[in-house]
Amino acid sequence: MQTVSVVGSGIGGLATAIRLAVKGYQVDVFEKNQGPGGKLSVIRNRDFIFDAGPSLFTQPGNLEELFSLAGKDIRDYFRYRSVDIACRYFFEDGRQVNAYTSAEAFAGELQAVTGEDPTAVLDYLRQSERVYEGVGTIFLNYSLHKPSTWLHRRILTAMRIAGYDHLFRTLDEFNRSRFRTTEAVQIFNRYATYNGSNPYRAPGMLSLIPHLEQNQGTFYPEGGMYSIVDALYRLALDLGVRFHFNRRVERILVRQGRAAGVVADGEQHASDFVVSNVDAYFTYLRLLQDPARAEKVLRRERSSSALIFYWGMAKEFPGLHLHNIFFTRNYPEEFRHLFDLKKMYADPTVYVNITAKMEKGQAPEGKENWFVMLNAPALAGPYPEEDVRASRRQVIDKGHCMAPVQIPGSPPF
Ligand SMILES: Cc1cc2nc3c(=O)[nH]c(=O)nc-3n(C[C@H](O)[C@H](O)[C@H](O)COP(=O)(O)OP(=O)(O)OC[C@H]3O[C@@H](n4cnc5c(N)ncnc54)[C@H](O)[C@@H]3O)c2cc1C
Repeated sequence: MQTVSVVGSGIGGLATAIRLAVKGYQVDVFEKNQGPGGKLSVIRNRDFIFDAGPSLFTQPGNLEELFSLAGKDIRDYFRYRSVDIACRYFFEDGRQVNAYTSAEAFAGELQAVTGEDPTAVLDYLRQSERVYEGVGTIFLNYSLHKPSTWLHRRILTAMRIAGYDHLFRTLDEFNRSRFRTTEAVQIFNRYATYNGSNPYRAPGMLSLIPHLEQNQGTFYPEGGMYSIVDALYRLALDLGVRFHFNRRVERILVRQGRAAGVVADGEQHASDFVVSNVDAYFTYLRLLQDPARAEKVLRRERSSSALIFYWGMAKEFPGLHLHNIFFTRNYPEEFRHLFDLKKMYADPTVYVNITAKMEKGQAPEGKENWFVMLNAPALAGPYPEEDVRASRRQVIDKGHCMAPVQIPGSPPF
């Protein structure tokens, strides 16, 4: 039996380990943390449960596929359900828009609240689907940095479907050419932030992202996002994958130009193949000890980052849903601060995720678990403490968008 060492048990490492085990490899996963999940992790504090990283679950088919490849029934491991509102948007003037996952209902809501033409919304979502179907496979599954991708036979078809607007206009230009209201433009510009991009620089191609959320729908995993990790971990164990936690890989062994195993905590583990689930920069710098390649990765522009607060709230807020966005008054200025000035913006867009809205047990009775996230610039070091304090104050001030419900002055933690 051929053997594989997987470095890292994030969601990518788990999925890779499962696919390889299904194909008949003996897989060993080395993870520096004490458990699996990586960025998809959980914080438990005084009966409050917080998904610490990702909070939006789309395309469950990708998970279903892993279970069906393994010949297992996903329902024995994991349950999820669809959510009818992808996001509730709050504008500074007090208007609120429910982004229903039914396209017609969403278009109707935008028309009722902002006066946006519902045909424009429905056309946009149809085009988003067309582009996703025609270009998505290339755009999402192949590296755009590799010349071989650009020689792929599907690239010409993809380019034809995408056309000038998706390739050479910014997402903001693209959206302004489609919608007449600033609110619709702002809502559809926000999708650039899903991969840390700036809608005033990123291409119109990112307009395919709303297809995943608004057409295919959003979902809630029972038990919160971490239940995805639990389910994949159990599936991997059932397939015979071996996990080595608290084992930091120091180096990938290379013999005659081929990966030949890993060194973890000073011990060598030989294997026929190695897969690194670790960030590309650290894989080159530390695991392959190739600083020149690592440097090349860093030369690429960094995506934006995030500042997150995990707040246990002492009461419930009936005006909020699972996913909530409180928009800044001035979106272009927010992105100028994040990408050009590399600073937090004084009137930030705030995302609030509350899993207690979906399920009992995520927070104590009558209370809520708030995951509060702000766009932040990519900095080399930690955020200055005074910036964090100022941001915390600005989030609380945003409470006025929620009238008549007010955010209390101070969270209980
Ligand atoms: C705040 C935040 C919010 C997000 N929101 C969403 C969302 O709503 N929806 C969504 O779909 N995605 C979201 N994402 C993105 C998503 O979380 C990531 O794409 C995904 O979790 C990355 O998984 P990964 O396996 O590629 O990497 P990681 O999770 O980073 O896994 C890498 C693993 O490697 C381990 N490791 C590193 N170095 C070593 C070493 N030397 N030896 C052994 N182990 C090592 C790490 O401990 C880690 O477990 C969000 C990300 C963040 C940070």
